[in-house]
Amino acid sequence: MGKTLFEKICDKEIPADIVYEDDQVVAFRDIDPKAPTHVLVIPRKPIPRINEAQPEDQKLLGHLLLKAADVARSLGLGEDGFRLVLNNGRDAGETVPHLHCHILGGRKMDWPPG
Ligand code: AMP
Repeated sequence: MGKTLFEKICDKEIPADIVYEDDQVVAFRDIDPKAPTHVLVIPRKPIPRINEAQPEDQKLLGHLLLKAADVARSLGLGEDGFRLVLNNGRDAGETVPHLHCHILGGRKMDWPPG
């Protein structure tokens, strides 16, 4: 199997505006932002989607969520708030089969989502 688009971003084979990275996760700005701040946080491990995550991924997923909150704060979203979104599967609008947590902020958001 070839690399996913997001694995290529992790490996710097495709350029991206990376705002944070460590040995487990990478955060970069979404190429088509849906809010004034729109960042994706992904595991380096190519888990396709949360529905396919395994018990051994528990620590990685905890790390990913904590880093998403850190990144949101570092981008100035801590005070007014932000939304974290995981789109799982076709009905949710998933387009890239590599787990990613959207950080959306910088504007007031509707609930429920469309
Ligand atoms: P989803 O629809 O939840 O699968 O989200 C995939 C996201 O990846 C979308 O918001 C896209 O705009 C974003 N995206 C696709 N290609 C790139 C890229 N090369 N760099 C940054 N973001 C991307």
